[in-house]
Amino acid sequence: MKKRILLLAGGQSGEHEVSLMSARSVLNALPRDQFDVTPVVISKQGRWLPPTETQRALESGEAATGGDLVLHRAASAEGYDAVFPLLHGPMGEDGTVQGLLTLAGIPFVGSGVLGSAVSMDKVMTKQVLASAGIPQVAWALAVRREWQQQPDSVRERAAALGYPLFVKPANLGSSVGISKVARAEDLDGALNLAFSLDRRVILEAMTAHKPREVEVGILGNDAPIASPVGELRFEADFYDYETKYTEGRATMHIPAPLSAEVAEQVRALALRAFRALDCAGLARVDFFYVEETGELLLNEVNTMPGFTTTSMYPKLFEAAGLSYSALVTRLVELALEER
Ligand code: ADP
Ligand code: MG
Ligand code: MG
Repeated sequence: MKKRILLLAGGQSGEHEVSLMSARSVLNALPRDQFDVTPVVISKQGRWLPPTETQRALESGEAATGGDLVLHRAASAEGYDAVFPLLHGPMGEDGTVQGLLTLAGIPFVGSGVLGSAVSMDKVMTKQVLASAGIPQVAWALAVRREWQQQPDSVRERAAALGYPLFVKPANLGSSVGISKVARAEDLDGALNLAFSLDRRVILEAMTAHKPREVEVGILGNDAPIASPVGELRFEADFYDYETKYTEGRATMHIPAPLSAEVAEQVRALALRAFRALDCAGLARVDFFYVEETGELLLNEVNTMPGFTTTSMYPKLFEAAGLSYSALVTRLVELALEER
């Protein structure tokens, strides 16, 4: 019997279009002799699109409108053996869709409610990883109400971290709303931007020097494995939205030119983080390697990383001998695995 798979793509976050690209790749790669795959695109308004509109969105790669309310359509997911929620960012990668699927009793690819929600929030991630003894930059949390009512206490927290520092919405991705703040005069603008996108904002000390950015893929449930380590190189001041999504602005190096010791340390820390956050299925764990000081700092854990055939995560496992199509097959098997 072929397994019936529901592939969810698009979604309400700023990474809607990225998700559509990833979904096209996954749709082509899931072996047809084993899987019967139905794609459903979720619009930016959060509505589940019927088949013709889904097809149109996948082909054009553009945000679609219309469709049904999520709870109305979710019931129809019941006939499936598993769901592949290929959604990035809020309302998709953050435990919300995972909660819906858990309620509906359908197995799905990737982390559950807890791992998804904690990994999506940069502050919660840092708190959990700190208690697991994983090295990170110094940080502080600020919430919107505080910024509105006691801005000076937020400014003091920033001053204590020192400049330059990074200001980020706690629950976003793709560098949306992130500022590198060089001087105290620029802090308010950065906070206003971040608070326009999220109730929770993280302030982070910058690494001592511009860091090297290294990433590793994790695959598995309770006995996860780590891929080789990859590195991203770019000219920009930091890995901002434009650098991420403009062709040719960044290059991927697999394996990353690192000593065997550092590479092994990256893999071991990533596995520890994956377990500490109760992740499942897959994650891409990103690090800062400060060559000048030898520091290796965990930056973030992405529970549904970019998934086109040229994205870092599949490329890392390809370097380990697992083809794109074998990788997506493995992810569905992991979703169906007894835990
Ligand atoms: P996102 O989840 O949107 O990818 P990140 O936290 O990974 O957000 O930040 C985006 C980029 O900003 C990083 O890849 C890095 O280039 C830069 N950056 C973020 N935080 C720091 C930091 N504390 N020190 C140095 N660079 C940072
Ligand atoms: Mg991220
Ligand atoms: Mg990142």
